[in-house]
Amino acid sequence: MSTAKERPLRTCLGCRLSLDQGRLIRYVLDPEKRIVVDYRKKLPGRGAYTCAAKSCIMAAAGKGRFERAFRESHQPVSGEELAENVAQKLRERLLNLVGIARKSGCTISGSNLVMETLRGRGGLGIIILGEDIAPSIGEKVTSRAAGAGVPCVYLFDKRTLGQVVGKGDRSVVGIKTGSQSKVIRDELSVYKEIVGEIEWQKHGYTN
Ligand SMILES: [Zn+2]
Repeated sequence: MSTAKERPLRTCLGCRLSLDQGRLIRYVLDPEKRIVVDYRKKLPGRGAYTCAAKSCIMAAAGKGRFERAFRESHQPVSGEELAENVAQKLRERLLNLVGIARKSGCTISGSNLVMETLRGRGGLGIIILGEDIAPSIGEKVTSRAAGAGVPCVYLFDKRTLGQVVGKGDRSVVGIKTGSQSKVIRDELSVYKEIVGEIEWQKHGYTN
């Protein structure tokens, strides 16, 4: 295993900056010559890289840049499509991370329990609210979270959140302070660069 310091630099096809490849999104060509996102950076073949920023992905999709990087032609793809593919991979990864947090006993779920924990200053690192949460409950949770300095993000839906924490529908999931919540927050900041319009409470959010 190489350390962070030894990781090689790769050039973003969008902005052309050379960056630690750990900070870049990797792409490869599948057998049908489609550009696919290699989020874990493990797929075989020649790779191409961009920053996680949507502007870089859009720029990379233009003017044969991927073709030059792969040294062969590929199926046409729009910047929008590519950015959506990256966002989809990030959502899958985030869901995985919430599942991992749950397995390590680092999640609590349900608006009542989360509200109670916030009242007790119970050490939550981040709160995820289902995008289909009842607005009144969403407001209650986010305003108390703001008071406690805990960032909130609207992501997934009640059913998906419930499934990942092994319950029925859940519109609120809290991740306890610690390494799990830190990894999720880091991943969310990448996700935010891609989707831009993500709704989350800035209040108390430090990254
Ligand atoms: Zn870039």
